[in-house]
Amino acid sequence: MPVPVETLRRILKVEQSRGCLDTAVMGGLDKLLHRWAGQARQGITEPGVLLGFQGLHFEESSYATWDPERRHLWIEQALSWLETAEGAVVEATPPPQAVPAHPARPDKTAPTPPPPARRAGRSPRAPRPSEARSLDSPITTLPGVTPRLGAKLGKMGVQTVRDLLYFFPRRHLDRSQRAPISGLQVGEEQTLLATVWEARQTKFGVKRGTEAILGDDSGNIRAVWFNQPYLARRLPTNAQVVLSGRVGLFRGQKVFESPEWELLENGDLIHTGRLVPLYPLTEGLYPRQVRQLVKATVDDWAGRVDDFLPQEVRANGRLLDLPQAIAQAHYPDSPTSQDQARRRLAFDELFLLQLGVLSRKRKWQEDQPGRSLGPQPQVIEGLVGSLPFTLTAAQKRVLEDILADLARTRPMVRLLQGEVGSGKTVLAAAALLLAAANGYQGALMAPTEILAEQHFRTLGQIFGGGGQEGESCQVYPDLLPRPLRLALLTGSFRPSEKNHLQQLLAQGEIDIVVGTHALIQKGVEFQRLGLAVVDEQHRFGVLQRSALRQKGFNPHILVMTATPIPRTLALTLYGDLDLSVLDELPPGRLAVKTRFLMPEQRDRTYTFIREQVALGRQAFVICPLIEESEALEAKAAVAEYQRLSREIFPDLKLGLLHGRLSTADKDEAMRLFRSGELHILVSTSVVEVGIDVPNATVMLVEGADRFGLSQLHQFRGRVGRGVEQSYCLLLAQSPSPEARERLEAIVRLQDGFALAEEDLRLRGPGEFFGTRQSGLPDLRMARLSDAPLLEIARTEAIRLFEADPDFSQPQHEPLARELARMWQGQGEWS
Ligand code: ADP
Ligand code: MG
Repeated sequence: MPVPVETLRRILKVEQSRGCLDTAVMGGLDKLLHRWAGQARQGITEPGVLLGFQGLHFEESSYATWDPERRHLWIEQALSWLETAEGAVVEATPPPQAVPAHPARPDKTAPTPPPPARRAGRSPRAPRPSEARSLDSPITTLPGVTPRLGAKLGKMGVQTVRDLLYFFPRRHLDRSQRAPISGLQVGEEQTLLATVWEARQTKFGVKRGTEAILGDDSGNIRAVWFNQPYLARRLPTNAQVVLSGRVGLFRGQKVFESPEWELLENGDLIHTGRLVPLYPLTEGLYPRQVRQLVKATVDDWAGRVDDFLPQEVRANGRLLDLPQAIAQAHYPDSPTSQDQARRRLAFDELFLLQLGVLSRKRKWQEDQPGRSLGPQPQVIEGLVGSLPFTLTAAQKRVLEDILADLARTRPMVRLLQGEVGSGKTVLAAAALLLAAANGYQGALMAPTEILAEQHFRTLGQIFGGGGQEGESCQVYPDLLPRPLRLALLTGSFRPSEKNHLQQLLAQGEIDIVVGTHALIQKGVEFQRLGLAVVDEQHRFGVLQRSALRQKGFNPHILVMTATPIPRTLALTLYGDLDLSVLDELPPGRLAVKTRFLMPEQRDRTYTFIREQVALGRQAFVICPLIEESEALEAKAAVAEYQRLSREIFPDLKLGLLHGRLSTADKDEAMRLFRSGELHILVSTSVVEVGIDVPNATVMLVEGADRFGLSQLHQFRGRVGRGVEQSYCLLLAQSPSPEARERLEAIVRLQDGFALAEEDLRLRGPGEFFGTRQSGLPDLRMARLSDAPLLEIARTEAIRLFEADPDFSQPQHEPLARELARMWQGQGEWS
């Protein structure tokens, strides 16, 4: 029968009250402790509590041999640990076979004599928690990680021991410099090593807390913790404690307010007195708990990680070895080693990324040859000549790149990067027309239905058809021997319509199809796909390219994006793509005037919109982002639409657009807005990318603090597409400091590249491109702005790839495994 926590507590109290003479239980305390520990261990659910348990060494105690002072101290500590452990130690049920062998004693609540030692020794021990066997074991096999805790960590993407090793802190707090008490500065975060003179529970108003007096050679100071009365017991008099926190003033006296604390005797410092890691947390995860768990795991496991980088690469890059890098990334000895650790781990990401991307390119280009799409100058010149504008120099240059690629049999894989409004669509149109002129089919894929619909219309216009609407429109550039058949295909088409279109595509009855993801779904077959254009690639994913490959056809691919990426970075992220940059806007464009306004100024913005409408212009009003709920977002947009229609602009024509509308309603709203019949379009973020209504000059963004920098840049890109002065007005109610930084950046910077750099700086590694979405592995440590490291990683990757493109040499085996792991679930690479 296991001894309950409460019973153990009483036994220890009795022992304490009897002067720690080892008289509380017959046969001595040790036997009881050993037995209790063996049974309690498996029931301890919180890692923090478990660490305390381990620190007390119940299982190896030799109380009988200790002197009275040590006994006193130990009991003090054990009692205070039991207090924190309350509820965290699930009372273990005895192993079933133990029961019949030893009939249970009546469970007295008074000090219970332990069962005779011999029996305790023989009775089967409770099993220890199952031990993690490999780096790929689930975290719940780690000591102290309960299913509940495991689930919380799972939310943070941590599922295996390896994940936990790679669960890096967001940043570190520098608590390595210790100040003497006399040197503490008010208002600053400081660290102190001191002795506890006294710690006791106290009251702050109605709440209980802890107050302690601490001292060092230079003086004394008071420390207070609100809401943490139990701390008093955990800070024994004379203990050496390290404190980190802010010093305030109370009645003219310096006082430490709720500092982090740690007893020096507990071994390595992890919360104080060093560079302290700050981990990303979720509800129910606590900083101390995560730090302790990671520390224990790193201590146990980092050394067992295999360094997959070939020795040569490590030497060339002057890189730390992997186990060391992992350990130092969590608990660095110094800022320098922290930096080296980060550099090594960042290198790994970039290097593996580059290798994967190179493999992908090789596979793409060597698997099957593509079709040469001959230049046909009269077609291209005819198209260009029919446009209502002349191409910019940048457009001409990029068009030449594209035409040269298309003429080859090696399939093109080209990334076209161009600032919002730089005129990418017309280049796509030219390339698609060329495919058709060569007798092949072309496809243009857009990330949203609204954008696909717009492209469908735009192409119709560019090809000179003006085209009737409907499932497919025939356009008649007299450049081709026969009418060009253009079609639209999106996910919301009825199955019968879809089937019909799919049949036409498969029979080659359609030359150019515009659509959404629906284009790459199962069942869509082309007769002879020669070119696929993917617009606004950053929302799409590189991997979906593979879905465009058709039986016997390896199409040319043109990927277009308005996300500006510095060149080296683009080469790393999209090293499988050739790169063209449209670095020029059509002439006559004015910079969009951008203002950040407080909600009190909303009325003024309405007056302003009215003035613009009076001048014949139009406006967008974007409703706040409601994370993860399209339904709520739609509801909010409807409410805002009604409010504006009834109360603010009853005399104007307003339209509404959100993700929950039917396709027909979306089309209708866009059609009316485009044709100028609506003055104001109230919308959710669905108009974020690609929408092109040159007469719109005002972009009003409500709740602008909720949007990211690149989104704000995209919104702003919806205006300023004509020759009129345009305005972007950003409304935000008490933005957080981070949001304020974003808003200030967007007001200050027009240039997409500059904004991308800023975005990188503000958001830090990993999140910048939402690489997950784009079919690339996540980058956590790599700073995409770290050009020198990108360069080294790229050089080394190319060198290795050229020497061993299949990673089949034996010394590259661990590398091949790591590569597979990193690109796992990212599609094409294998
Ligand atoms: P994006 O690069 O953002 O996709 P679009 O292709 O939608 O830009 O073009 C933005 C607007 O500029 C469109 O209205 C388009 O007709 C117009 N445009 C494109 N090229 C030129 C040009 N060379 N001169 C003038 N206007 C142009
Ligand atoms: Mg576009």
